Amino acid sequence: MSDIIPITPLTNAAAASADGLGCHAGKDQMLDAAAKAGKSEVLAQYAADYPKGPHDQPQSMCPAFGSLRVGLRMRRTATILSGSACCVYGLTFTSHFYGARRTVGYVPFNSETLVTGKLFEDIREAVYAQADPEKLDCIVIINLCVPTASGVPLQLLPKEINGVRIIGIDVPGFGVPTHAEAKDVLAGAMLHYARQEAMAGPVAAPRQGRSAKPTITLLGEMFPADPMIIAQMIAPMDLAVGTVAPTREWRELYAALDCKAVAAIHPFYTASVREFQAAGRPIVGSAPVGIEGTHDWLGSIGAACGVSQDKIDAARNQTLGAMRGVLASQKINGRITLSGYEGSELLVARLLIECGADLRYVGSACPATPWNQHDADWLKSKGVDVQFRASLEQDLAAMHEFKPQLAIGTTPVVQAAKELCIPSLYFTNLISARPLMGVAGAGSLIQVVNAAMGNQARFDEMKAFFGTVGQGDEAGVWENVPVMHPDFKKEVRRQFEKKQKKRKAEEMG
Ligand code: SF4
Repeated sequence: MSDIIPITPLTNAAAASADGLGCHAGKDQMLDAAAKAGKSEVLAQYAADYPKGPHDQPQSMCPAFGSLRVGLRMRRTATILSGSACCVYGLTFTSHFYGARRTVGYVPFNSETLVTGKLFEDIREAVYAQADPEKLDCIVIINLCVPTASGVPLQLLPKEINGVRIIGIDVPGFGVPTHAEAKDVLAGAMLHYARQEAMAGPVAAPRQGRSAKPTITLLGEMFPADPMIIAQMIAPMDLAVGTVAPTREWRELYAALDCKAVAAIHPFYTASVREFQAAGRPIVGSAPVGIEGTHDWLGSIGAACGVSQDKIDAARNQTLGAMRGVLASQKINGRITLSGYEGSELLVARLLIECGADLRYVGSACPATPWNQHDADWLKSKGVDVQFRASLEQDLAAMHEFKPQLAIGTTPVVQAAKELCIPSLYFTNLISARPLMGVAGAGSLIQVVNAAMGNQARFDEMKAFFGTVGQGDEAGVWENVPVMHPDFKKEVRRQFEKKQKKRKAEEMG
C-alpha cells in the first residue's frame, strides 16, 4: 500500500451532488457538470467515437452494463463500480441475471465523500486492497454517471500496483449511447494498455501457444460456434482464427493484436479498431453471412492478408456450395421487421433476405460506421429501410406500417407485436444467441424463424378466445366483472378540457 494517499478535491462536486442527477435527469445538465469537472476531453472522444443522431439516445439499458460485462467475463480480472447505489443495484442484478458468477465490486459514496474528494481516496484504497498479483492480472474501475459528472479523476490512479494493471474508465449514460458501445470503451482501453506493454518489451504468449498460420482477430461477442465455423471457412486460405475480442483473459489481448487482419464482425468497436490500426492491422467489415455476404467477406479477408486468388476461390467453393444446398432445400416465406441494440442487426438482416424472407425494415440502436457500410448499402439495394440509432417509436412505426408475419425486436417491440397478434422473437435472447455464420447460421435461422411464424394460428386462437378481455380499462386484476362508467369518463374529460381552455386563455392573456 502506498504511504501517501492524496485527497483530490472535486472540481465540480456541487454540480454533481445536486438533487436528481441520473439518467432521469437532464442530459445537458450532466454534460455541463462533467465538462466543468474536467471530463471534456474524454467526452469529446466519446462524441467522436460514438456519433449520435438522429436521436440523442436510443432507448436501451444502462450503457455501463456493456463495460461491466466485458470485465466480468475476463479471467483474473476484478471489476469495481463507482456510482449511485441504485445504478449499482441495477447493474449487479442484470449481471447476475446474465450469469456473471463473479463478484461486482462497489465503492459507495455519499454527498460528503463526493464533495470532499474522499470518494477518490476510497476508490484508491479499494484498488490497493484488491491488487493481489496471485489472483489478478487487472482491476477495472468504472465511473458511472454521478462520479463522471463530478470529475472523480480515475486517471490519477496508478497504472499498476504490485504487477496488477489498473484501468479506470468513465462510462456515463450521457456520454456513451448504448451498452454495445460501452463494451468498446473497456475493450479499447485494455487493448491500448496491452499495446503499450507489447511495444515496451516481450509479453506473454497465448495459453495454447502462437498459431503457425497468420491469424484473424474477430471483433465482437458472438455465439461460441461462430469462430469455429469461420476457422473452417478460412482454412483453405492458410489462415486461422486467432482471438475473439473482447477477450476472456489479459494475455489474449497480445494475441489479438498479433494478427494479420481484424474482422470487425460487430461494427461499433471504434476505440478498439483505433488500437488495431495503431498496431498496423488492416480492418475488414461485414461478416460471412449468407451466400453473397460470405463470398464478399472471404474476398475481403483474402485481399487484406495478401492471399492468392486461387486460394480465395478454394475457400469460397468449399463454403458456398454447401450453403447453396441448404438455401435450395429450406426457405423463409414471410414478411419480417427487425430491430435490436446488439449491433449485429444488419448481419441478421442480410441472412434473412438470403434465406428468402421479405424483410422491410431493420433498426439498430448502434451507429453507422465504415464497418457496416457495405451491409447497409447491400440492404438498401434490396429495398430494405435501414435505420441507425433507431428509436423505439421508429421500430414500432415500421411494425405498424409493414404489418409483418414476424416481428423480431427488443422487449417493448415484441410486447407490442404480441398485443397485435403478430408472432415475434426477442433479438437479444433468441436471435443473437445462436450461430449466424456460414452454413450453420443459415440452417439455424431458417428453423427458428419458420417455427415462430408457424405460431400465427395459435395467436389467432388465443385472440378469438380472450377477445378484448384485459385490454384498456379492463387491464389488471379484478375480483368481479369490471363495470364501466362512461358518464364518469365523460365528466372527467369535460373538466379536463375546461382546464385546458382556461390555461390557454391565461397564456394568451
Ligand atoms: S449509471 Fe446508468 S443507471 Fe445510473 S444514472 Fe447513469 S445511465 Fe442511469
